[in-house]
Formats: sequence, C-alpha cells, structure tokens
Amino acid sequence: MTNLSQGPSTAIVHPDYQAPDGFSAFPTAIHHASTVLFKDVNAMRARSWLNKWTYTYGLHGTPTSFQLEGEIAQIEGGDHCVLTPSGLAAITLVNMAFLETGDDVLVPDNAYGPNKELGTWLRNSFGISVRFYDPMIGSGITDLILPNTKLIWTEAPGSVSMEVADVPAICAAAHSKGVLVALDNTWSAGLAFKPFEHGVDISMQALTKYQSGGSDVLMGAVITNDVELNNRLLMAHMRLGLGVGMDDVYLVLRGLQSMKLRFEAHDAAARKVAAWLKNRPEIAKVLHPAWEDCPGHDVWKRDFTGAGGLFSVLFDAKYTEAQTDQFVNQLKLFKIGFSWGGSHSLCVPYRIETMRQTWNDKGILVRFNIGLEDPEDLIADIAQSLNTF
Ligand SMILES: *Cc1c(COP(=O)(O)O)cnc(C)c1O
Repeated sequence: MTNLSQGPSTAIVHPDYQAPDGFSAFPTAIHHASTVLFKDVNAMRARSWLNKWTYTYGLHGTPTSFQLEGEIAQIEGGDHCVLTPSGLAAITLVNMAFLETGDDVLVPDNAYGPNKELGTWLRNSFGISVRFYDPMIGSGITDLILPNTKLIWTEAPGSVSMEVADVPAICAAAHSKGVLVALDNTWSAGLAFKPFEHGVDISMQALTKYQSGGSDVLMGAVITNDVELNNRLLMAHMRLGLGVGMDDVYLVLRGLQSMKLRFEAHDAAARKVAAWLKNRPEIAKVLHPAWEDCPGHDVWKRDFTGAGGLFSVLFDAKYTEAQTDQFVNQLKLFKIGFSWGGSHSLCVPYRIETMRQTWNDKGILVRFNIGLEDPEDLIADIAQSLNTF
C-alpha cells in the first residue's frame, strides 16, 4: 500500500513492496550491490575483509559471488576461492599477494604469454627478479631456487606448446626449500587435474574458458586450501579493488552446471581430430598430451584423468609460414581468434621460436580449440584446407 504522505520520488527510492520470505526457484539470485546495508552501527564496525559470512561492500562480494567461489573451490578440491575480473587478473593477484621488491619468482618458459609479460614488468618496474625456466625441468628446479625465491609458477600443459610439466616433482623441490608453488590450471578446468592432491599451494583458473563456456564472460579465480594463504590473497584482492560483476557471475554459475559434460565432449572430439591429424603427412607432431609426441605424455598419463579441447600440431618444417597461414585462412568452421573453451572451434598459428628462450623444433605450430561441432565436420574442414597444399 502506497504511503500517500510521501512524494513520488521517495516512493520509488523506498518502495512498499518487500518480497516475502519463502520464494523458491533453482537459479541463484543476482545480488547487485555497491552499498551493503548493516543492521546497526555495531554490525558495521564488526565487518571484516577476511570473513565471508559477513558482508562489507559490494566490490568485495555479495551472496552471488560467494556462492560461485564455493563451487569453484569444490571443483578444484580446495577450501577457499577468490574471484577476479579476468584470468590474467588472477595471475596478477597471486604475484601481488606473495611477492615484494627483492624477491625472486620462477616462471616456466611455456607459460601463458601475458604471465611472462607481467613478469618482465615486475622485473623492470618493481625490483622483483623474474626468471624463466625449462618447463620439463622437473626436480632439477632445485638448482634454480635462490634464498630469495618466494614463488614458482607452473602450468600443465603449457600454453600453445603443450609440454606437460612434472608438477609433483617441482612442488617437492620447492617445498623442501620453503617456496610456494602456483599452478595455472586453466587447461584442465579443475576437472582433469586436482592440484592440491599433487602438492600445489595456489591454483589459478581463467573462468573465461570452460567454466563460462560461452565465449562471452571474462573472469578468473585463485583457489587455495590454506587459510593463511587465502587471507593474503583476500587482503591483496581488497587493496587492488578486483571486484567482479554479478551478471557475469550468474552466467558462470549457469555455465558451471554443464561444464563436466561439455569438457568430456570437447575431450572426445579433440582426440578424434588429433588422431586423424596424426596420420597426415603434413603434420610432424601432434602436441596433445594423450599422444606420445607430446613432451610429458607419461606425466599426463600418471597425473591427469582427461584432456580438454585444446591441442597443437607442428607442421613439417618444409612448409613455409605463408603456407600454414593459408591453411588457417582457408578453414571455414574453424575461426581465427584467441581464448577457448566455448562452443566454437578456433585455430591460431604460432612462430613458437619467437615466444621462447629455448625451442628446438622447426616448423610452424598451429593450435586448435575443438568446439562442440560434429567432429566429422571439423575433420572434413581441415581436410579440404590441407588438400590444397
Ligand atoms: C585465457 C588464459 C588466461 C587468462 O584468462 P583471461 O580471462 O583471458 O584473462 C590465463 N592462463 C591461461 C592458461 C589461459 O588460457
């Protein structure tokens, strides 16, 4: 009932209707907020950045984002999760939370490109020593650990070139010297590799990929199973103001419900396409962790329970870059673009030696993201383009 003594503007700002308790439906409510209301001054004074059972300010989470954090932590096998506005912001958050001037961090030479770019910036502008290491180093990383080494990044398999690092061996070496290990676990979506069972301290996901599944949302997450590590992340997250939009959170919550089924479909289709490519004379190596061509294949068999839709191939070195560019340009179903994990198949060529400190193979590398199309149609598309060689 409208309060007739109040003007129409007040009535809009303070509406009469209050939803009664007891409304019930499956979707999570989308709680937008900058201001979060406290029931009294004492409740306001008792707020804490570190306690998710109370709320502080919309930037730092609402029930919608806290629910997604809980679900992501559970998939990953961790206890705590912090959301960030992108996967790259999640990488940045880890570095800001655990590194300071004078510290040293080790990053694999095959890491996600912007992670290496961020490292170069930390080195040049923030006085942090950043060194890139051979991703297949395994327990040999012991020899690289210095007294000021605080953090070792890992990624398995590595972006683009797909070597599968021996994460447990790196963790054992790091922990014997008191160094933390962070893993970019995006490729496995947290489904095919369980980081905390293999010794990882801090796991990071680009939720932009399989969790969203729509090629639309950008979001990241950092997952831990240690309250002290999570507190460091929460404080850095608060200071940096890394809030996420609740409409985006809702889309990821929706995507997550079908993620395992989509991931298995990507996996099955990618293995079909990779198997077909393995028999083509144009292809020197199939860099898919489930194939022996891929460095670290044995580690993948030991530590992983599946694969996703992302893999690469190395063209025979006799083909020029102009020819492989033509191969990519002539594809019809495969589109050219970055990112992956959505329904659409993608293809990107790389001159990998320009991206790496060390790279011994010759030939152009082409990365495929296998979407949710019929694999027979994808194979036919690749065949029609290869047949013009
Ligand atoms: C996409 C990706 C990221 C970054 O995620 P964005 O949300 O695009 O910033 C980080 N690491 C890996 C391995 C990725 O594939």
